[in-house]
Amino acid sequence: MPLRIGLSGGIGSGKSTVAALLAEAGAAVIDTDAISRALTAAAGAALPAIEAAFGPAVIAADGALDRVRMRELVFADPPTLQRLEAILHPMIGAETDRLAQAAADRALIVFDVPLLVESGRWRARVDRVLIVDCAAETQIARVMARSGWTREAVEAVLRKQATRAQRRAAADALIHNDGLDLDALRRLVLALAARWG
Ligand code: ADP
Repeated sequence: MPLRIGLSGGIGSGKSTVAALLAEAGAAVIDTDAISRALTAAAGAALPAIEAAFGPAVIAADGALDRVRMRELVFADPPTLQRLEAILHPMIGAETDRLAQAAADRALIVFDVPLLVESGRWRARVDRVLIVDCAAETQIARVMARSGWTREAVEAVLRKQATRAQRRAAADALIHNDGLDLDALRRLVLALAARWG
């Protein structure tokens, strides 16, 4: 049986970088955000149920979920988000299970879950929670450099996410991704994968 790792971290912490390094170490990486995007892309499997629940106005001209319209609906009526999640979460869960089954021969399966700590429902599905952590200033600098965002835009996302303390409290293992270059991070992740694999 593979060891199941739930990987999370705040925006700009280096979570995606760590996921890529774990894949390099032979782990199967399952990206729950990518699954969610595929379900709501044009011809995505979640669209019929979403259209039935919220009407044709939430479907864009190209057939994908109209995210701007959906956000407006959630803003106007917050419980709408729970209704949307009630459609999406079981579908994400089913696709995640399917991909995990397909990777049953691997030593490690990594579930890359951006909001693992916030959502709570992931803890029971994984054997270990691995958190990538760094100082807020480092997160801000990285996202400004990576995505060209303003400081204010990054700070607004940080305020909505779990705090570092909440994330650290949920961690079985912590990667402190500050003050180390990418080579040092690689060595650290490969050592962790070897210990767990
Ligand atoms: P996340 O997925 O947590 O939002 P990323 O993995 O995309 O973050 O990392 C954000 C940016 O910071 C990327 O451009 C990445 O290459 C860079 N980065 C991450 N960790 C390090 C590090 N230890 N040294 C240098 N750059 C890093």
